[in-house]
Amino acid sequence: MCSLFEPFQRRRLVARPFPESWNAVLERNALFRSRLDPARRTLLDHAMLCFTDSHTWEGCGGFSLREEHQATIAAHAMRLTLGFSEDYLGDVDSILVYPSAYEAPHRQHIGSGVVMEGHSQRIGESWYHGPVILAWDDIQSHVQSSRRPHNVILHEFAHQLDFRNGRDADGIPPIETNEQADEWVSVTDAAYDQLCKIYESGRTDLIDEYATVSKAEFFAVTTEVFFEASGLLAKQWPELFQVMKRFYNQDPRIG
Ligand SMILES: [Zn+2]
Repeated sequence: MCSLFEPFQRRRLVARPFPESWNAVLERNALFRSRLDPARRTLLDHAMLCFTDSHTWEGCGGFSLREEHQATIAAHAMRLTLGFSEDYLGDVDSILVYPSAYEAPHRQHIGSGVVMEGHSQRIGESWYHGPVILAWDDIQSHVQSSRRPHNVILHEFAHQLDFRNGRDADGIPPIETNEQADEWVSVTDAAYDQLCKIYESGRTDLIDEYATVSKAEFFAVTTEVFFEASGLLAKQWPELFQVMKRFYNQDPRIG
């Protein structure tokens, strides 16, 4: 049995050796790993091994899922958890990977008891107590580039953190104290309103417009920015950066 959140010393006993072949993959697909200090890099590596070994993985739509794909996904997913002492991703039951954007059924309640149904193209999904679904070509095109702070792995696993408080993702992840929760709601609500106004006025922002869809998407999208463009977020949205830094218990600017 392999728990991600056993003390670091015990993880050393339960994890298998880190595959040498993963190093080259991660140098291409998880650049942040090389900036971590040795202790945190070891923590990440063991968390990755536990994560890959303790979940069901499946290639879908003809995708041939290999270890390099698993290593890449595990590295980014486990980056989210480096500052946590609890297994907040323990409810994820499997990781399904498609080669590219896939078509999925779509239901939208439009009021007066009417539900519109159809199909939509997706690059990722996160299910409560269920799978995380990802499109590999979207991962591939963004993990090696810093053109914009987009990372579908961080996004979908952030939704899983959000689910820890219940089935409905509401943009409030598990927060330790009431005081911290109050601060989280106050700062993120204000930032969400401010971002909505920015896009309503026709301007753009570091935080993608998709964050204005709901508070849940706001949390997932700002998580992408927190890790992928931390310096800019700290500069442009300082209060938001501080509450996220406190929640994730890490500062991506310093590894
Ligand atoms: Zn989302």
